[in-house]
Amino acid sequence: MSNFTFPISTSYATSVNDTIPNNILMYHRFGENKYPSTNIREEQLVSHLEYLKDQGFYFIFARDLLFEDKLQKKTISITVDDAYLSFFEVGLPIFEKYEIPVTLFLNTENVGGQNYMNWTQLKSVLSRGVDIQNHTHSHSSLSILSEIEIVNEIEKSQDLIFENLGITPNLFAYPFGENSTIAQKVVSQYFDAAFGQHSGAFSINQKYFIPRFPLNENYGSINRIKDASSVLPFNNVLIEPGNPYQSEPISRYALDFNEDSSNINCFISDFQGSFNPTITNLNNKLLVELNRLPVKGRLRFNCTKVNNGIFWFGYQYLVN
Ligand SMILES: [Zn+2]
Repeated sequence: MSNFTFPISTSYATSVNDTIPNNILMYHRFGENKYPSTNIREEQLVSHLEYLKDQGFYFIFARDLLFEDKLQKKTISITVDDAYLSFFEVGLPIFEKYEIPVTLFLNTENVGGQNYMNWTQLKSVLSRGVDIQNHTHSHSSLSILSEIEIVNEIEKSQDLIFENLGITPNLFAYPFGENSTIAQKVVSQYFDAAFGQHSGAFSINQKYFIPRFPLNENYGSINRIKDASSVLPFNNVLIEPGNPYQSEPISRYALDFNEDSSNINCFISDFQGSFNPTITNLNNKLLVELNRLPVKGRLRFNCTKVNNGIFWFGYQYLVN
């Protein structure tokens, strides 16, 4: 008998449904207080890191989420998008002080532009241990791009990153978290996993649309960090329709949680506010009928269950 006490099973699918959270945080700007929806104030960031250290979280690179053996302790992955100059000047020194690994998603067209890092600074960031990954070339939403346009976005940025930094990213983050079935298919030919910008617990079952918790001045409280760091994934959720891009707004959805769904609550919202959907539980599938059509823009599903911890499934559609 081993004296190892974690409740780990040998199958990956079961271990991610255990009581060990392995979630991801997303930041953009640091100390740029003019942009509250994408910025984090220095004192907020310090309070997040202090809280996570106090709670005994292990900090890992986003790339480590793909390896089961890295997930057997409660972990947090810090991701930073867009490679703003304020990451170099304000954010990175704080992460270094706390010795925290950071994954930076880089969109290459803006490199050297005003308020963005240049290649020399990116080289320095890389040599200081930051993991640099791909965030397209032009930072366009992939949801309405054709297959060839998406290929061009990826190949151009991969080439520039290789030429300037000598590395080939294996992870991808969708600009604005927006994508489509086609985008996911193309991205899967170049990368091992891809990240969105919607809240939710990390689960390897959504490998090409992994949720991340956005942190900013408006959503940057300690309670937010508490939830973001501690929520757990459902075992394996299927949502229909599966295409995150809707060329026409849709009012009917189905969610299959592969478990008793009677205690699962779903909160659904778009830019116009929250819905009052009719939800029918049929053979443990939740059939959702929205009380109005979603408006153009982002449509979010957040489903939770409380059972020795909070389980949180998140999904984001872009409605045309
Ligand atoms: Zn971005």
